[in-house]
Amino acid sequence: MNSTPLALIVDDDITLRVLAREALEQAGCRVEDAATGQEALDAFQRETPDIILLDVVMPGMDGFATCAALRKLSGGASVPILIMTGLDDVKSIATAYDAGATDFVTKPWNALVLSHRVRYMLRASQAVEELLEREMSLAEAQRIARLGNWKWNLSTNRFIASTQTFRILGINADPYSTALSFEELLSHIHETDRPTVESGIRQAIATGAPFRQDHRVQMPTGDTRVVHHYAEVAFEQGGAATSVVGTIQDITDQKKAEAQIHFLSNYDRLTQLPNRQLFQDRVTQALITQKRHETQGAILLVNLDRFQRINDTLGPKCGDTILREMAERLLHCVRQSDSVSRHDDQEPVTLSRLGGDEFTILLTHLSSAQNATKVAQRVQEALAAPFEADNRPVVITASIGIALLGQDGEDVDTLLRNAEAAMHAAQDQGRNTYQYYSQSMNVALAERLSLETDLRQALERSEFVLHYQPQVDIRRWEIVGVEALIRWQHPVRGMVSPMTFIPLAEEVGLIDHIGQWVFRTACAQQVAWGAYGLGEVSIAVNLSGVQFQQANLVDSIRTIVRETGANPARLELELTESTAMQDAENAVAIFQQLKTMGFSLSIDDFGTGYSSLAYLKRFPIDTIKIDRAFVKDLASESEHAAIAIAIIAMAHGLKLRVLAEGVETQPQLDILRDQGCDAIQGYFFSHPLPADRVEQLIRDLRAKSDYERPAA
Ligand code: C2E
Ligand code: CA
Ligand code: CA
Repeated sequence: MNSTPLALIVDDDITLRVLAREALEQAGCRVEDAATGQEALDAFQRETPDIILLDVVMPGMDGFATCAALRKLSGGASVPILIMTGLDDVKSIATAYDAGATDFVTKPWNALVLSHRVRYMLRASQAVEELLEREMSLAEAQRIARLGNWKWNLSTNRFIASTQTFRILGINADPYSTALSFEELLSHIHETDRPTVESGIRQAIATGAPFRQDHRVQMPTGDTRVVHHYAEVAFEQGGAATSVVGTIQDITDQKKAEAQIHFLSNYDRLTQLPNRQLFQDRVTQALITQKRHETQGAILLVNLDRFQRINDTLGPKCGDTILREMAERLLHCVRQSDSVSRHDDQEPVTLSRLGGDEFTILLTHLSSAQNATKVAQRVQEALAAPFEADNRPVVITASIGIALLGQDGEDVDTLLRNAEAAMHAAQDQGRNTYQYYSQSMNVALAERLSLETDLRQALERSEFVLHYQPQVDIRRWEIVGVEALIRWQHPVRGMVSPMTFIPLAEEVGLIDHIGQWVFRTACAQQVAWGAYGLGEVSIAVNLSGVQFQQANLVDSIRTIVRETGANPARLELELTESTAMQDAENAVAIFQQLKTMGFSLSIDDFGTGYSSLAYLKRFPIDTIKIDRAFVKDLASESEHAAIAIAIIAMAHGLKLRVLAEGVETQPQLDILRDQGCDAIQGYFFSHPLPADRVEQLIRDLRAKSDYERPAA
């Protein structure tokens, strides 16, 4: 744009045009001229002049009409128009203003006066333009910042507000023509927040302290928005408040983002429950309140039994489904907790997910510490019905550890640690149960941790060894096989029982490796005995329920058999009755595959697992092993004895071989023989022995029978 202003002179008198041009060029303008109204309109559109000097009396369109027409053109509304009139009467001046003139000058004009007048008009027009521009950019800035401002003149009660204030309050009106009032402003504030905003501003007026508040605004659409409201009061010399100026900023999006961040850092995304972070905050809070009110509180740590197994077999998606359902059921449990009373502002119960398969329940304001028991029992009841995953029922139990606030710890970490110790104690008691924390548990927990550390190294340090317990045919009194039983020779603890470390290995995910080692070692032993001229010795190997849930069990067994060259027909795989029944469908399917591969199969610890006969028929098994518990009481004519006898009869009915475990005495043996039991295993014949000693025993027995046979 040219910085020299352009003036358009419109006059039908050529002499006047020339004179005017001279005067304006003196004033520093460039000049264009036009002789008629129409020419003026054309020139305006072509040149967009910065100022127009317009004669009134012209042929055709007169000055007033031209002025009015100019105002309607694009860009014509704000251009300064100076009307040159010879008619020095009030009426034509009024007509000129009506037509949109900015100012007027009477003819004949003085060149100096005209040039001053033009210069003044140009300056004023520029100032107005700049002001408008500034106002627009302020409005623009307010729009971008979602910030509005208002001013309330207390002495005149005049209230003005910016466009953006209107918009934020949801007022659909022109801020230039609509008068707002303080009351009107208040009426747009959310009902609940209105009294505090009003009293806040009134207090600012009374005290002079600025007013600051985040509150909600009720939009006509029904939405609510959140604003940050700030106001300051101006005072006159004497001290009376004269006006209040305020800003109001829409912070809805910011609040939403904050809420999102708060949610992400305090809640678990899978279950929407509070996470560890929030749980810890709540416990800390509860500890403080508890001291003040002398009430009782407790933490329940709920750990799902063998959840890892479910995750491994059904996949993480099903695992997630179950965890979500779990959260629902637990929520239901804690919501109906009548054992806790609601107190002031504090939630009496917080259910959270610590991570993985661990949930915690924080109970506060218990009337008695024992009330935690009720909740623990309700949790167990809530799990009674099977879960559904992948269209099949899954039974889930939980072990619960309980720690009391204050008594079992003064801070979150101690409380959680102790609740965990109690939870492990519950697991050790056979799971699906709850335990209150006691001091001795920490010792047990430390013990368990150190055992776990050692167990992780046991394989690579070759601390495992297999012992073999002979299985004897009851009539021919011959060793018909051996059961491989793992032993852990701990460098410091000595021999650790499999009853101790197998469940631990199952839990910490080591059973797979150990199980494969056992199977490989047993296969290698069978091949070695063959090579030593012992023939093919039948070896029974125990499979853990956890191994049975692993998808690759059959493959890994197949690989080991191939690599070692063992004979599956002389290998027996044992699965306990309870694990076989826990997920019978799966067990039957795997047994069938193993059967096809040629293995013998047996059900271990029979009598303890509540088999249904219908299911038992579907298992392609060869042998039932009567649990030691029933054999123990055989000679005492107890209920157990009756069961042992019934099992033998039933097994024979199903054409299965029966082996009695844990036979220790001659009377036990005699009864078993009378009842037609096929084989026995137990200290009566032999303890489990190292490989070389079993080998010796087999050789000795054969030699004896070879010697005895001719005599018989
Ligand atoms: P199980 O499979 O029922 O093994 C029989 C247990 O009874 C063995 O205990 C054995 O030493 C013991 N026993 C044998 N005869 C008698 C007797 O006359 N009287 C008494 N009181 N006990 C007798 P062990 O070796 O301590 O094994 C305990 C359990 O550990 C086994 O029970 C089995 O469930 C598990 N286990 C042992 N080895 C393995 C293994 O390699 N893999 C897996 N998954 N589990 C194993
Ligand atoms: Ca066994
Ligand atoms: Ca057994």
